[in-house]
Amino acid sequence: MLGMTRDDFADLVRQAGEPGYRTKQLAEAVYRQRIESVEEISTLPQRLKNWLTEKQIKIGSPRIEKKFISSDGTIRYLMGFDDGQSVETVWMPEGDGGEAGDGSQAGDEALEIQETAVGARPPGRAKSSFGRSTICISSQVGCAVDCQFCLTALLGVKRNLTAGEIVGQVCAVLKDQNVSPPNDRINLVFMGMGEPFLNYDNFIKAARLLVQEAGIAERRMTVSTAGVVPRIYEFAQEAIRPKLAISLNASNDDLRTRLMPLNKKWRLENLLAAAKDFPLRTREWITFEYVLLGGVNDTPQNAREVAVLLRGLRCKVNLIALNPGPGIDFTTPNEKRVVNFQNTLREAGIPTFVRRPRGRDIYAACGQLKRTVEAASPAPLLQAISPVE
Ligand code: SAH
Repeated sequence: MLGMTRDDFADLVRQAGEPGYRTKQLAEAVYRQRIESVEEISTLPQRLKNWLTEKQIKIGSPRIEKKFISSDGTIRYLMGFDDGQSVETVWMPEGDGGEAGDGSQAGDEALEIQETAVGARPPGRAKSSFGRSTICISSQVGCAVDCQFCLTALLGVKRNLTAGEIVGQVCAVLKDQNVSPPNDRINLVFMGMGEPFLNYDNFIKAARLLVQEAGIAERRMTVSTAGVVPRIYEFAQEAIRPKLAISLNASNDDLRTRLMPLNKKWRLENLLAAAKDFPLRTREWITFEYVLLGGVNDTPQNAREVAVLLRGLRCKVNLIALNPGPGIDFTTPNEKRVVNFQNTLREAGIPTFVRRPRGRDIYAACGQLKRTVEAASPAPLLQAISPVE
């Protein structure tokens, strides 16, 4: 049932010959209470449970197969599906760098004010602890885009996730963390394994379900694309959609094609035209991510080129110093180079932030999701635990 819309539930209820109010009960059991088996849905009569069981209709939650806990509090979940495939989902308590889920400091204050006015926070809960937690979810098993600095690329793409499998990751993590939006403010980033815009229909269906059924605000969700240009135009037309982030990662076509082979198909000119045409809502920006690779794309000249590319766009830049991994032939630039790059962009008037790496010690940081069943060395930093029985 994970992945079903209200209309799907209504059909089911009709087929079962049950009254209409069961539709809402089913949807709430799956997306709000996050119950994992039909038998446990206490609002339903036994005859409906039996009917669902006979029809082999299950909730279909992913199994938490492993949990790795970082010294910084980040948790990497290995989520298993019925066909034996798995993906990773990352929980970042207190946000992903002091931001509104998309790397921006700007915007967060406005959210803060709005939500305080609503007064949704239950008494006694420290605001800081749940104010900015972020869940990073996967959209495909592996990835086909083949970015040269990313570990997920080494897996190739095994298959798309269904909308239910995408939403299911969120439900499983919320349940495991015992938090509930909208009372607990959760940011969502579609930035895990896979290219969401190469699994567009399932991704957008999942986003809609997360807004309409799971209660996560649109403005708290960000999707990142490597630059699948036709889908950016399609995404622009959606009535319900997350915010947009684009992985830029290079300052000119030669360099970008070397680092991200998809640039052969969708070049910077087309990509930036799509960004310029993108209809932004009030207080909305496009985020550009830029992975800094030592000596490759991190010079002051590169920064100046980026500033020219982004001229005239309502955007901000998130810099990510490379998270290293086995089989990745690039180095992490030192802090000075990162700060210089940031300063060059800022001087050009572009709000630029450096993203603090989260969970590097357990291979949970950007570009490190590869379903590794061990953590990164050095070993003492890690703490791998079995799933809750
Ligand atoms: N496929 C989408 C979603 C993945 S988001 C996309 O490419 O945007 C993951 C982000 O992490 C992207 O911005 C990507 O450029 C970045 N990334 C990939 N490998 C990385 C690495 N080794 N270190 C730091 N960031 C990396």
